[in-house]
Amino acid sequence: MRIMFIDPPVKTPRSAWLVMLLASLWMASLGNLALWRALTNLPDLSGMHGVWFAIAFALMIAGVTCSVMAVLAWPWLLKPTVSLLLLLSAFSTYYMWMYGIVVDSSMVINVLQTDAREARDQLSWQLLYTVLVLALLPMAWLWRQKIFYGDIKRTIFSNMLVFVSGLALTAGLTFLVFQDFASLMRNHTQLRFLINPLNSVYALLDLTVIPSNKASGPLKPLGRDARIERTHSPPPLLVLVLGETARSDHFSLNGYERPTNPLLAKENVVSYKNVMSCGTSTAESVPCMFSHLGREAYLARKENHENVLDVLQHAGYGVVWIDNQSGCKGQCDRIPNTNTSSLNIAAYCEQGECRDTVMLSEIESQLAKLPAERRARGTVVVLHQMGSHGPAYFKRTPAAFKPFQPECTDSSLSRCDRAQVVNAYDNTIVFTDYFLSRLIAWLKTQEKNSTTAMLYISDHGESLGENNLYLHGLPYRVAPKEQKHVPLISWLSPGFERYRGVTVACLQKERERALSHDHLSHTVLGLMSVRTEVYQAERDAFDNCAQR
Ligand SMILES: [Zn+2]
Repeated sequence: MRIMFIDPPVKTPRSAWLVMLLASLWMASLGNLALWRALTNLPDLSGMHGVWFAIAFALMIAGVTCSVMAVLAWPWLLKPTVSLLLLLSAFSTYYMWMYGIVVDSSMVINVLQTDAREARDQLSWQLLYTVLVLALLPMAWLWRQKIFYGDIKRTIFSNMLVFVSGLALTAGLTFLVFQDFASLMRNHTQLRFLINPLNSVYALLDLTVIPSNKASGPLKPLGRDARIERTHSPPPLLVLVLGETARSDHFSLNGYERPTNPLLAKENVVSYKNVMSCGTSTAESVPCMFSHLGREAYLARKENHENVLDVLQHAGYGVVWIDNQSGCKGQCDRIPNTNTSSLNIAAYCEQGECRDTVMLSEIESQLAKLPAERRARGTVVVLHQMGSHGPAYFKRTPAAFKPFQPECTDSSLSRCDRAQVVNAYDNTIVFTDYFLSRLIAWLKTQEKNSTTAMLYISDHGESLGENNLYLHGLPYRVAPKEQKHVPLISWLSPGFERYRGVTVACLQKERERALSHDHLSHTVLGLMSVRTEVYQAERDAFDNCAQR
């Protein structure tokens, strides 16, 4: 009998990039079953259009996943890294699918704090199957592969190539499907927490690396020296309107060819034409606008300060924030505030949404709640608009304020012609025009008891299809001007002109001047005659016209 010795087949080594490519495709497709189920359940994307979008989305995820792996694609490190990502994806998919959880940093903290007993309670056959198919199966293949790396130079080069290619692929695809992608992420923010394994990677980084870059520690007091330099009778009343998603070039006051400001055009307003925002989203812009620091110093800050509203309050004024949106982003935490967005007043609210004009009905009662001694010195009211919040622009305007037709009535902007999107958006500007003119009309009725003024400024702009971009929120450096160019409109009663020592005629000559959100806090302090070390006259938009 001959004994045969059979050599095991010699394995051809696999290139590291191939392993990364296969693993990221596996995770982007099967490791994201919960994401694909969630997408299928959304009305936004359907039919072949939806299928193409899903394919592009999967490739975008694969691209970034590949880049993440490329950072750790070293001998002894690649296999454990890929295995860990596969396991994270599999476990996440199971819990997302069964319990509808999402993965963010607080979820990671929960998992890390789970004790053995709780973990045992959660074990099930389905979990085992899921992990077996989604992670252990590809891991079994992975660990049997011999991976070829080459020398150190070659490894570095090939890792960098994979890293850059992955990101480039994702960037290119994002550009192609930006309209759907931005619309989807804005309407369904929770989707980003369903993206495996990037959600886990991001959450882990957020818990470990990222916090060190953020301003931390207790809130620093600001302007405790503030006092009212010149008292006035009747006391000043400034209404500061914080606009939403209004872009400067769609205001006819600023030269837009469509009549979007028919009512403000009849008022003695000053509309500044060259004003830039601090950020391209509400969350970025609003805290920056109310900071005394200005954009650059605000972004580089090491600690958080109180804001200009606190300074006004320290000076002795009554300050109140009325919000018709999702909230004040922490800016009204220490002043009286109220939210009107869920009021149910038939005259202003329908289908769960209140028009911005609902805030006008609230001003008097909110002012009445302020302490009498503060009201006697003067008051500042902030009105935070719903404004032109997208993508469902058509929901922001009542039927009587839709002069531009036909308008897009689909939350998924990609289903409408660009012209219809612009129509729906312009209608929101027409409604803001009405809202501001009603506010001015009300301020005029208050002139017996108050010296009145209004300042309106938007938090950021909006892309309306220029270069196929929609909505806002692109990183500031790459965001187009449409997302950063915002309206700033002032209205001063004759009494307020005298109080501030400026004339509207002089302000009109300044309306081409380059201004930004950096000027807001100081302009408000100047208007209210607050003396404090915080105030910088060079950032007061009205200072050039002030008589000294
Ligand atoms: Zn906003």
